[in-house]
Amino acid sequence: MKRVGAGAAVLGAAGFCVFHGQWPTSQLYGATICRSRSGERKIAFTYDDGPNPAHTPKLMQVLERYDAKATFFLIGRWAEREPELIRELHAAGHAIGNHTHTHPTMPLLSTAGVTEELARCRAAVEASGVEFTPVDGQAMMRPPYGRRRPGTLRAMRAAGYVPVTWSVTCYDWRRTATEGKIARRAQRAIEGDVILLHDGSHTGPAIDRSNSVAATEDALRKLSADGYRFVTVPELVAQ
Ligand SMILES: [Zn+2]
Repeated sequence: MKRVGAGAAVLGAAGFCVFHGQWPTSQLYGATICRSRSGERKIAFTYDDGPNPAHTPKLMQVLERYDAKATFFLIGRWAEREPELIRELHAAGHAIGNHTHTHPTMPLLSTAGVTEELARCRAAVEASGVEFTPVDGQAMMRPPYGRRRPGTLRAMRAAGYVPVTWSVTCYDWRRTATEGKIARRAQRAIEGDVILLHDGSHTGPAIDRSNSVAATEDALRKLSADGYRFVTVPELVAQ
């Protein structure tokens, strides 16, 4: 496996994601964190599209019951409405990353458009007094829909971000997603996995995510009985 020099500290433990079915060609695309290969019994739960005033607080209560630290990729235009909720996430030990300001399909944007989306989200989050959680000295960024192309990745990196995707998808955004279906997918996670879930939606600031919250509790119960610990993405990939 090739390593990218600048990010070697992170990438030593982090997995590389597949880009269009192939390994990234070193510096051209750079690496994306999608899991850890350290072999430790740690799992990273990640939540996109919040903060959600209706469901993020309930999710935080569930996480606290299992001493679980998670990673939240916030949408800027929701973040600017919920500064107190962002402070609570930070104070509880959860990690925070950038999920753009308006949730666009990034490959359709120019470099300037990508840079602006990231900057507006950053400003919205930092207005709360909280900064993005660093990983290897950079902030984390999750591209909406996981979509990216080389130009998108270059623009993200130039703005100081490490892209973070996932290794376990729970499809909790589907209308047919039930608590049971979501939980069964999450419970398949093993050492080093990054689980994708949602505490919000790009379609509205307070969308019902009670199924995702309940499924999180089911998955935490099962996986903690199996001896797993639940950590933030920066902790998952730490050396
Ligand atoms: Zn999203």
